[in-house]
Amino acid sequence: MATLTELLHEGRALLEEHSPSADLDARVLLAHVLGRSETWLRTWPEHRPGREEAGRYRALLRHRARGCPVAYLTGEREFFGHSFRVSEAVLIPRPETELLVEAVLERLPGENAARVADLGTGSGAIAVSLALARPQWTVLATDESDEALELARVNARALGAGNVSLSRTHWCADLPGDLDAVVSNPPYVAEGDPHLKEGDVRFEPRAALTAGPEGLDALRAIVEQAPAHLVPGGLLALEHGYDQGEAVRALMHEAGLAAIETLRDLAGHERVTAGCR
Ligand code: GLN
Repeated sequence: MATLTELLHEGRALLEEHSPSADLDARVLLAHVLGRSETWLRTWPEHRPGREEAGRYRALLRHRARGCPVAYLTGEREFFGHSFRVSEAVLIPRPETELLVEAVLERLPGENAARVADLGTGSGAIAVSLALARPQWTVLATDESDEALELARVNARALGAGNVSLSRTHWCADLPGDLDAVVSNPPYVAEGDPHLKEGDVRFEPRAALTAGPEGLDALRAIVEQAPAHLVPGGLLALEHGYDQGEAVRALMHEAGLAAIETLRDLAGHERVTAGCR
């Protein structure tokens, strides 16, 4: 039987040419199979897992070597300090999307009750994070995909966000008319974008990633439709591509929104644009 040190070494060697984060991937996958933390792995380097556990670990390594995202292999991803279940039916939550959550929390006064909608919720990462940070809000999470809604429901329940409700709908169709905020991380990648052929995105649902030849179709639809569902002064906050800030500001301007502002992510890219009705 191999020790943890040997298994991690084996994992790193196997993943080296397939993943930019071979060392981390091996540790996350081994910790997942053993049901332990990465700290535990470091504490017990001489521990020898059983044959069955080593076999499951090696199977995950082979999937990872073929490109499958680590989050789909473990079935979870951390977002805004919470652990979300994920599956191939939804986009894997990204760190830059935390900026969108922060932007909404900063702009809506915390103590008031508010009605907020998260369009295209996927795993529910945005909706559930907002709902947990603001228990007095009611958060409506929408998606076109039944599988995504089921996963969002599982996440809301597991994380104790009783103030999230779910609805199957296309962007703003069937939205109530008195929302304090509409927030979305819609698909915004251009259909021919070469980066769709690289890394994790190859395994993610296309419908959650691409939106027309310039990637602007979903953003345009939301900016055109959302203001009618906002109370006066209501907030629209959207994530978009690094090169779409100008286009989204122009769309919000045309839609009559005010106080339009774009925020940059940690990489320095324009990533979130917000405006008020
Ligand atoms: N940020 C993601 C990517 O570029 C895309 C997310 C989205 O389309 N909403 O991989």
